[in-house]
Amino acid sequence: MKVWAVANQKGGVGKTTTSIALAGLLADAGKRVVVVDLDPHGSMTSYFGHDPDTLEHSCFDLFLHQGNVPPGLPKQLLHGTSHENISLLPSSTALATLERQSPGQSGLGLVIAKSLAQLWEDFDHAIIDSPPLLGVLMVNALAASQQLVIPVQTEFLAVKGLERMITTLAMINRSRKQALPYTIVPTLFDRRTQASMSTLRVLRNTYPEHLWPAYIPVDTRLRDASRAGRTPSQFDAGSRGVIAYRALLKHLLSHQPAAQVA
Ligand code: ADP
Ligand code: MG
Repeated sequence: MKVWAVANQKGGVGKTTTSIALAGLLADAGKRVVVVDLDPHGSMTSYFGHDPDTLEHSCFDLFLHQGNVPPGLPKQLLHGTSHENISLLPSSTALATLERQSPGQSGLGLVIAKSLAQLWEDFDHAIIDSPPLLGVLMVNALAASQQLVIPVQTEFLAVKGLERMITTLAMINRSRKQALPYTIVPTLFDRRTQASMSTLRVLRNTYPEHLWPAYIPVDTRLRDASRAGRTPSQFDAGSRGVIAYRALLKHLLSHQPAAQVA
């Protein structure tokens, strides 16, 4: 199983959209995909028609056993989605109580890695949608992954969030056997705006080895897809957004991204 995390210490940059778009395209290609919603806001869970405020069982259940994961529990928590090849490990608002805990002290840093290990035979790919805060959940997402995708909105100030994310990554890399490779993905790009053009230029100059050389454009069809509860490619396979995500997926599958040298 390939495990990718989608993370950035900033909200509204396209993390959930990117997670679902990539999962949808992998699923269209016949891959069995599990999407993991680690954001207590539960946008991905809502996207697929479940209410994170009322779900009785969620990823939160995985954290209730002192860092151990009871056999069979991850499988019991799976839900179906609009796509027959995508299963969801949902979020719930209860996850927020974990968010600010220090992962070192609680011993809960590997709960998601252990949970995915139990699903290794059932899925080809896992995609983890991460919360924007550094805490137990973010640490779990990064510890469980083989690759990190960092969506960055092409907007003034976005580079600050990216710098923070890369600092976090350096810290997490110290407790990993291998540094986590990452790819920066410019999102919500609007070529008519000064902010988009200049942010893209800054990213290209500052992170040449890690930057996906294209970008995800602003595309209202992506918003429409989320309202319809369908993956972007189920909703409109020919839209500009989906075409861009298809190119991104191809890049992620064929390039071994660089890891940061600490
Ligand atoms: P995050 O998970 O980082 O908070 P989301 O993926 O939820 O960000 O995106 C925030 C909002 O922007 C959502 O309403 C989403 O539908 C919309 N959105 C995301 N990417 C695009 C895009 N490329 N074009 C248009 N709208 C987008
Ligand atoms: Mg989100």
